[in-house]
Amino acid sequence: MNGRQLLAIGMGVLGIAAALVLARHGKPAHDRTPTLSDRTLVEFTALEPIDAHTHVFRGSPAFTGMLDHLHMHVLDILYVDDSDSYLKSMEQQRKDAFSFVESNSGHAQLCTTFDPFLLKDPNFSKNAISGINNDFAHGAVAAKIWKNVGMEIMDASGKYVTPEEPRFEDIYRDIAAHNKTLILHVADPDEAWGIPSPWGFISKYYDANPQWNMTTKRGAPSKKDILEATDRVLVRHPDLRVIGARFGSLEDHLDELSPRLDRYPNFAVDTAARVRRMVYQPRDQVRAFFLKYQDRIIYGTDLHLFPAADESSAPSTWENQYSLDWRYFATDDTFAYQGHQAQGLKLPPEVLKKLYHDNAIRWIPGLENHLH
Ligand SMILES: [Zn+2]
Repeated sequence: MNGRQLLAIGMGVLGIAAALVLARHGKPAHDRTPTLSDRTLVEFTALEPIDAHTHVFRGSPAFTGMLDHLHMHVLDILYVDDSDSYLKSMEQQRKDAFSFVESNSGHAQLCTTFDPFLLKDPNFSKNAISGINNDFAHGAVAAKIWKNVGMEIMDASGKYVTPEEPRFEDIYRDIAAHNKTLILHVADPDEAWGIPSPWGFISKYYDANPQWNMTTKRGAPSKKDILEATDRVLVRHPDLRVIGARFGSLEDHLDELSPRLDRYPNFAVDTAARVRRMVYQPRDQVRAFFLKYQDRIIYGTDLHLFPAADESSAPSTWENQYSLDWRYFATDDTFAYQGHQAQGLKLPPEVLKKLYHDNAIRWIPGLENHLH
């Protein structure tokens, strides 16, 4: 996600009367009759919620204060994006993320990555593994592969690289051997390949980000090709736990995601940046999916905090997003979710506990070590 998207999310959540925010600005709870706001905050913090998909490269006392207030724990994920001057190399972002994690002990842990643009280097696999292992030794609990694998990066022969890339095989084995987890964000919504969203969701993302517009890329894999390559990785590495970011890019096709979750016991998904597309779909179908796969869905937002961002607005932007998502998952309120009228799923308390805490702990071993 880039700055423009983040801005869009920020704009979307502005003006929402967040129960959690009200709770914060009200009088201390012991001075008055408990309100819904107070109850919401108590329920939420009692879960020791985990946001298993964030990208944070700076901190501040106010940001740490927000995490403290909400009892929020974040997985801070590195990724290499050659179109972004800050993210195009690993060195600075790794340093900044580690520094955020260290100064927010108890609230943050690291998910490392490797630079897939170095694929043509003869020592690529060896170097990638040594970098990952070094980060694991310093506390990283997972490793990430991003959508540039499948949608952007080519090998020496000009062929697009997919998750099935042979030079990734040793990396997969290494992650599994360390009992770490792979966060795999591959592909994009169907619109990237020129196919309209079945739910009429309108995305301006591809106008603003033509580098992800796959309709203009000759020889690029289809979305189906990328997802099927991922399926084969899941089969070939049954000991590798894989969390498919953004519902495995099947956010609009829960009917295609279900059989994958049935077939691959080493596969789970996160909700990152895609609750906003759940709200367009028939509520009963989405709710049934969340109940059926209650052990396989991990809460995540894809919220970012870059060094160049305006830090002062971040605590309220993040808190508003958490409040909005909680209202969708925990209540049956009818309300505007980023401009779309939606009814909350009102998931049972035991399912909320799995979504917001237990599943992340189970699917990302090591995450529990620093929760307090
Ligand atoms: Zn992300």
